[in-house]
Amino acid sequence: MKEKMKVAVMTGVGKMGFEMRPIPGVTDEEVLVKLEYVGICGSDLHYYEKGALGDYIVKPPFVLGHEASGTIVEVGKNVKHLKLGDKVALEPGKTCGHCEFCKSGRYNLCPDVIFFATPPVDGVFQEYVAHEADLCFKLPDHVSTLEGALIEPLAVGFHAAQQGEAQFGQTAVITGSGCIGLVSMMALKAMGLTEVYVTDIAPKRLQKALELGAAAVINSNEVDPVEKIRELTDGRGVDLVIEASGAEICANQGIEMLVKGGTLVQVAYSDSGMMTLNTSLLCDKEIRIKTVFRYRHIYPLAIQAVTYGKIDLNGIVTNIFNLDEAQDAMDRSVNNKSDIVKAVIKIS
Ligand SMILES: [Zn+2]
Ligand SMILES: [Zn+2]
Repeated sequence: MKEKMKVAVMTGVGKMGFEMRPIPGVTDEEVLVKLEYVGICGSDLHYYEKGALGDYIVKPPFVLGHEASGTIVEVGKNVKHLKLGDKVALEPGKTCGHCEFCKSGRYNLCPDVIFFATPPVDGVFQEYVAHEADLCFKLPDHVSTLEGALIEPLAVGFHAAQQGEAQFGQTAVITGSGCIGLVSMMALKAMGLTEVYVTDIAPKRLQKALELGAAAVINSNEVDPVEKIRELTDGRGVDLVIEASGAEICANQGIEMLVKGGTLVQVAYSDSGMMTLNTSLLCDKEIRIKTVFRYRHIYPLAIQAVTYGKIDLNGIVTNIFNLDEAQDAMDRSVNNKSDIVKAVIKIS
């Protein structure tokens, strides 16, 4: 096997370059994965555009990308459940296993997590990665590695649905029809909800939501989304709102759209990190607020949903770039947010 691999690195704000780095060796508990697809996430775009996301500051050269899939080309000695040639989806966060959060099953809150593409930890816009076998989930033959790369965002969608305690028979609104809004909608539908509505202001994104199974889509630039939801629900409102836009106005509209006692799940981060919410209405309606940070132990069920045809992830992808086109992929994703719903980098 060759010894070096190509790595796309962020060399500065808005700048990509390439480096050749040694192909990593594996420990006894790891597998070496030849990467095939890595999705471009909103967080990658944020790091690329701003050089930081919240408290995480990029120190170049930095490798972006955490939504990864590939094929196993080397297996550590103690690895039992995977073999050469297996296709896998990679869960990007390695947790400590010892803290109160890990021990209580909320490992996504582990303060010592090592997570791809979260400074200072490099991501995987590169040809190979050595990764804990425990965090590599085998894909069945008929599920592609393109779908495998999208298990990561889908896991966020399922976590949002679970945080909202979504149930068959409920109605829901997703505010924001980006990747996370769409996977949240798909998760709700896979859980049996039939009436899932989606709001946005970008026609192309709304079209995508409709194609992927939204009961109706609402362009908030054209109609009052709160009025429209009242009309669609005979004045009742919905049980669940998943806020996936990060816009304060959408969170407040969501509060208005909810039935009394309903649940607002905040998934998106706002640009400033702050939001002013209608707390009077929150209290009057006794709205429950839940939030989402990544996911915990959801890959198996997300893969199951795709395996049994409950969810078709292929439909989300609007653009595929090669690794060599990393600069173009990032620039176009940043500059055409309303058209590029989901871009993926094809590594090999
Ligand atoms: Zn992501
Ligand atoms: Zn921990």
